[in-house]
Amino acid sequence: MDTSEQALRGDIVAKCRWMNVSGLNQGTSGNISARCGDRMLITPSGIAYDEMEGDHLAVMLLDGEPGEWAGPFAPSSEWRIHLDILKARPDVGAVVHTHSTHATTLSMCRREIPACHYMIAAAGGPTVRCADYATFGTEELSANALAALEGRHCCLLANHGMIATGPNLSRAMWLAVELETLAKQYYLSLAIGGPVVLPDDEIARVKERFKSYGPRRSDS
Ligand code: 13P
Ligand code: ZN
Repeated sequence: MDTSEQALRGDIVAKCRWMNVSGLNQGTSGNISARCGDRMLITPSGIAYDEMEGDHLAVMLLDGEPGEWAGPFAPSSEWRIHLDILKARPDVGAVVHTHSTHATTLSMCRREIPACHYMIAAAGGPTVRCADYATFGTEELSANALAALEGRHCCLLANHGMIATGPNLSRAMWLAVELETLAKQYYLSLAIGGPVVLPDDEIARVKERFKSYGPRRSDS
């Protein structure tokens, strides 16, 4: 195993532990995958994150026989969502799935998140959709998630949780935190009469501005 794969495995385990310690997720809920060349590294099913090690991860070929895996433990029950997203979306390098409280609360009410805050532009468009319900770990749930992710980087999963993607694991986890924050803010705004929703053209402007947002050195 080369050092970059070793580092990626270590990062996946560190992010799993962090998402539980930070309160973004709980128990053995949630899972993480990352693209590694022509393979997918994915967390094993049902293993407590504080007992998980980098060499416990399961490996699946992106173009292999669906369901075939290698590793000491079986992959996450949600391997199909992760594999289908990585296959369908070449822009995606990592996928984070959590049962974070506020995103899950909205998903239980099957509410999509409207443009209640400009940060929704980070989701890729003026809404965060809620994928139709299907039993966890099924091909149907994967199809529903892919449909909800059309033109977006994240979505809710009805009566279940959320999915966030990114070009790398740091960005996918960043977006998971942003989505949970947005879900909490939307939920709170509903309690005091509901938000004023921003128009689509404003979210398009924010997306444009995001392209040049970030730290800028005085000497650049
Ligand atoms: P796994 O432990 O199999 O990854 O399942 C957790 C989960 O969130 C299922 O939706
Ligand atoms: Zn789940």
